[in-house]
Amino acid sequence: MREFVHADQLKGHQAVVVGAGRSGIAATRLLLKLGAQVRLLEQGSKNIQSFEDDHLVQVIHGEHKAEYFLGAQLVVLSPGIAKSRVRSLIPQDVQVISELELASWFVSKPMIAITGTNGKTTTTTLVGRILEHSGHKAFVGGNIGTPLSEYLLDHDQAEVLVLEVSSFQLQNSPSFHPQVAVLLNFSPNHLDYHESMAEYLEAKLSMFARLDTRDLAIVPLAMRQELEGRNFTQASRTYFVGTNRFQCPGLPGAHNQENLEAAYLASRFFGVSVDEAQAAVRDFASLPHRLETVLEYQGVIFVDDSKSTTIDSVLAAIKSQDRPIHLLAGGIFKGGDLRLILPVLQEKVRAIYLFGASREIFEEAWQDFDGSLTWDATLEAAVVRAATQAQTGDCVLLSPATASFDLFANYKERGRAFQQCVRRWAGEKSCG
Ligand code: ADP
Repeated sequence: MREFVHADQLKGHQAVVVGAGRSGIAATRLLLKLGAQVRLLEQGSKNIQSFEDDHLVQVIHGEHKAEYFLGAQLVVLSPGIAKSRVRSLIPQDVQVISELELASWFVSKPMIAITGTNGKTTTTTLVGRILEHSGHKAFVGGNIGTPLSEYLLDHDQAEVLVLEVSSFQLQNSPSFHPQVAVLLNFSPNHLDYHESMAEYLEAKLSMFARLDTRDLAIVPLAMRQELEGRNFTQASRTYFVGTNRFQCPGLPGAHNQENLEAAYLASRFFGVSVDEAQAAVRDFASLPHRLETVLEYQGVIFVDDSKSTTIDSVLAAIKSQDRPIHLLAGGIFKGGDLRLILPVLQEKVRAIYLFGASREIFEEAWQDFDGSLTWDATLEAAVVRAATQAQTGDCVLLSPATASFDLFANYKERGRAFQQCVRRWAGEKSCG
């Protein structure tokens, strides 16, 4: 597959980059550096920066068309662009890859790659923290923050590259080969994007199949039988479970103990001791919008878990709280069986406040819920309702189980709207 592995083989060739987000821009810059001509396709109306070799870049706005791919030797997809959406437009013999794959051809340092349905960003950040704390110069990026291409172009001084990788990226990364690969967990997700659960798992496992005996696979003990049954890798395997050996009050919940364990095991490959890891994570606080405590008002705590877009992450959020919960949920549902968490809802949740899209899906799945279940068109109205009903000792938890695009640009905007509303509630007793 590595047709273009030598930089000079791209010289003078036509490449197409689909999507002009941060990673598409970085891929374009990398391709230009390698001497390629680039067509950069952007469906939205966003302004595109100018490039140093502007005459070699053709920016095309609007719907993708087959003619834009004519003459291309290589197509680079941005994360989030489904291959199935553009494949029919691209001639069969043209190689279609991710920005991660392209960049990885030029990496000479060891890579740790972290994937899974939930916890990627938290764990990737933790690994970076542990390595840095133990004296290793680490780059943290990939699917979060700085794309790998951008790092290679602008920095490239780290000893170890710690990369969050999504299944979207892995699906189009046929030769991506880290030294340490971590699978945190696996549950239904992105069924609006992947054709099936099997395809989604296949994408996540593809990177493990390429590891060799010198490499390390870190995978959940709960998946041991399934993974061994598939003979999924040649690498040495470490199966992990959450322990309680990491004191980290800022990262609540058993799921975060799993993240901590996986992060430590990945760092151990580079010689980090458990004591060093423990010291590095002691003061680590939840990342924004991931079980982030906003404030406490009249004995009620308000927790922003806007990044919770799957059923498993809602489950993790509910289990992480000791207080009776007022749960805010709703938005663009991505698939899975909501009924599975009904027993935990019955046990720990006082009331559910739905908002926005997918009302019918939630109401049907949770119709046997014993507490009150209401729906509001907006998040703000649902927050007021929950805040009014919550009593001293309770927790109001935004953990929506959905993508945010019905009402917001992204999960950050949803989380900020929640926080703003909560602050207004605490300050003014009114909101919206
Ligand atoms: P990702 O990058 O995979 O989306 P994040 O670290 O951003 O992961 O967390 C996303 C959501 O998943 C948050 O709501 C967080 O509380 C939850 N979460 C984090 N780690 C886990 C885990 N190991 N299992 C289940 N849920 C988790």
